[in-house]
Amino acid sequence: METSSCINYTGRFAPSPSGPLHDGSLVAAMASFLDARAHQGKWLLRMEDIDTPRTVAGADRFIMQQLLALQMQWDGNVIWQSSRLQRYNSVFQALQEQGLIYGCACTRKEIAENAKAGKRLGLHGERPYAGTCRHGISGNRPARAWRLLMPEGIVRFTDRWQGEQSQDVANEVGDIIVKRADGLFAYQLVVVIDDHDQGVTDIVRGNDLLSSTARQHCIARMLGYAVPLMMHVPLVMDETGRKLSKQNHATAIDLQNPLLSLGKAWQALGFSPLQAASVEQFWQAAIPRWHARFGQ
Ligand code: GLU
Repeated sequence: METSSCINYTGRFAPSPSGPLHDGSLVAAMASFLDARAHQGKWLLRMEDIDTPRTVAGADRFIMQQLLALQMQWDGNVIWQSSRLQRYNSVFQALQEQGLIYGCACTRKEIAENAKAGKRLGLHGERPYAGTCRHGISGNRPARAWRLLMPEGIVRFTDRWQGEQSQDVANEVGDIIVKRADGLFAYQLVVVIDDHDQGVTDIVRGNDLLSSTARQHCIARMLGYAVPLMMHVPLVMDETGRKLSKQNHATAIDLQNPLLSLGKAWQALGFSPLQAASVEQFWQAAIPRWHARFGQ
C-alpha cells in the first residue's frame, strides 16, 4: 500500500439501530471501513436513531460490540442523532426563514392519487409529490408534514462504484419531506447535516441509498455544504431475491465464525477469497487489496 497520507479523508458508517448488523449491513460497514483505512482516513460511527419508532433499545450497543468483535474500530466518539435535535431544529428554522419550507396537508392517499393523475412516475419508483400545497394549503386543514422546495434542474454526480448518475429531483421526486407528520425530522435532512458537521468527505454505503443521493445533494447545496464523494456498494440478496434486511428478518452476523462472516462480505464486494488465519490478518490482507482497486 502507498504510504502517502490522505489526511483529508473522513468516512463514516451510519447504521440505524433497529436491530443487530447482519450479513447485508456488514458489506456496507466493511466497504466504508476499508475505504477509510485504505485512504489512511478517519472512519466515524454514527447511530441513526432519528426514526424513534424503528429504534430498538440496546441495538446501538450491540452493533458497537459486533464491530469491535470484528476489529472494526471507529475513530473518535460515536454520535447519536437523537442527541442532535436542537441542531436539526435550527437548520430547519433557518430554511423556513428563507421561505424554502412549506406545510403540507396531503395524506398518503392524496399524494398517490395526484401522482397518478399527473402520470408522473419516479425513475427509482418514487411517488413524486405534485406540489399540491406549495402555494398554500387549501381549505382549513392543518399542516401534517413540512416540505423543502427542491430546485429545478438535473442533479449529476459520479458514483465511484455505479458510475455516472443523474436525476431530475424537482420532477421525479418533488419537494421532499424534512419534518414528518409524526413530528420527527426526516432522514434525508439530518443525514446531510450530520455528514457536514462531522466533516465527512467520502460516503460509502449500500446501493439502496443511491436513489436518495441526488436529493441529499440538493439539500447540501441549499445549505451551502460541500458535497461528499459517493460510492454505493452492491446489496446482499436473500434466496427470494429481496434485499437482506432487518425487515426481512435477516439474522445477526455470526460472530462464532468471524472469518467466515468477513469472507462472505468480502466476496459480496466482488473480491476473490483471502487467505487469513485471524481477523487481524484478514484486515492486513484486505486493506491493500481494496487500495489497489479503489485508492487514487
Ligand atoms: N441509516 C441508514 C441505514 O442504516 C444509512 C444511511 C446512510 O448511510 O446514509 O440504512
